[in-house]
Amino acid sequence: MNELLEEGAGRGLDHRGRTALHHAIRDELDALRKDCSDGISRELDNSFWEQVEGRLALLPAMSLVGAQNGTGVVLHTNLGRAPWASEAITAANQVAQYGTVEISRETGGRGRRDKTIAQLLAQLSGTEDGLAVNNNAAAVLLMLSSLAQERKVVVARRELVEIGGSYRMPEVISAAGATMLEIGTTNRVHLSDYESALEDPDVACLFKAHPSNFEISGFEGEPSLEELASLCHERGVPFVYDLGSGVFNGAHLPGLSGEPTVPSALEAGCDLVSFSGDKLLGGPQAGLIVGATPLVEKLRRNMMTRCLRLDKTILAALEATLRLHALGEEVACSHIPGLSMLGRAVEQLQKTADLMASQIVQSCPGISVDVASCEGRVGSGASPNEPLPSIGLLLQVEGFSAEDFALKLRNGTPPIFSRIQGEAVLLDVRTLSATPEELAFLLSSSLA
Ligand SMILES: *Cc1c(COP(=O)(O)O)cnc(C)c1O
Repeated sequence: MNELLEEGAGRGLDHRGRTALHHAIRDELDALRKDCSDGISRELDNSFWEQVEGRLALLPAMSLVGAQNGTGVVLHTNLGRAPWASEAITAANQVAQYGTVEISRETGGRGRRDKTIAQLLAQLSGTEDGLAVNNNAAAVLLMLSSLAQERKVVVARRELVEIGGSYRMPEVISAAGATMLEIGTTNRVHLSDYESALEDPDVACLFKAHPSNFEISGFEGEPSLEELASLCHERGVPFVYDLGSGVFNGAHLPGLSGEPTVPSALEAGCDLVSFSGDKLLGGPQAGLIVGATPLVEKLRRNMMTRCLRLDKTILAALEATLRLHALGEEVACSHIPGLSMLGRAVEQLQKTADLMASQIVQSCPGISVDVASCEGRVGSGASPNEPLPSIGLLLQVEGFSAEDFALKLRNGTPPIFSRIQGEAVLLDVRTLSATPEELAFLLSSSLA
């Protein structure tokens, strides 16, 4: 395949990008093999390449395309958050046509769409049941609308956060048809605030949200999860926690020290915990809810759950990702790209950067390159103020400002997203997936 790719590129057939060329060659090879087995003799000659060209011409020009992330933000929301594990990509591919989405292999009749996901979520979290919906924003809406419609939700003022876009806690609570009962101040909330709020018989649940993209420091404080949980259990009120990023494995990784894990939140006594599929879980976009069966079942019966259900490819990718987590810390942290990127040590990044730099010097005569320390971020609301020490390539092209060169890179095939540092374009090596050869090729072709 590598030889064919080179030959195709030599024939100028890589104008839609290497991936498109790869797919066109692969599909035409399949056709050629089929013809040969049907007794039609064919060769890898000019007519083969004409067919490949025809396949490329049929491809619609896509606006949503794969990209290289040189920003150093591992879970970059605008670049699609978590990159999927190859196991997840394969699983999604396999069900893209027909698949055992909602069918029983035993009876051939209807099966349950989320049964395996529910079991895996429960097993990983150390609880009874789980549910998956479109995203965590939907999960929070579903929890509050199922438990607190036309009733009150107790929430601390210091947790009335805006996550980004238009996701603002007070608005989510009102969209769920519930009324917010705000307690405490912007910096502190006491157990006694919660105790008095729960005197109100109209309170349906206590809601807690992870602050995600901001931090309160200085004179601040709040009761522990355990204290809140035992208060809730005493009063018979469910304790709902929107955790944001769902950590199962990788809690030891740089940048994640302050993140609560899903099992620890449940162990502390939370009744329902929700989190995203595409943050630190490292899978596809989804909203996951875990807890005891009676509560999860209540959500499952809500009509809204049907409106928020997942596509078959997402279900498959999610199942594959959860299975990697179930295999334990070591497998999860090496196979799930978001986690393995966070685990890359600076010395390792330095080696990659050096290899990339020498390849660029060798094959991109117009580009000057320096290797330097830089700072990345976890992204997506995990440890917002904690930099990830990293290594970057500082690139400059004579006659181009850094902004102009960055624009060229964004217009490449595939596009490369960078940061600007001083006069140079910075590519943080941690989040790049290209090999040194691929990167040098992309850089030189973006200037061509
Ligand atoms: C990210 C986040 C959300 C939104 O999750 P999505 O999966 O993007 O819908 C909600 N709550 C918290 C605390 C978050 O960090």
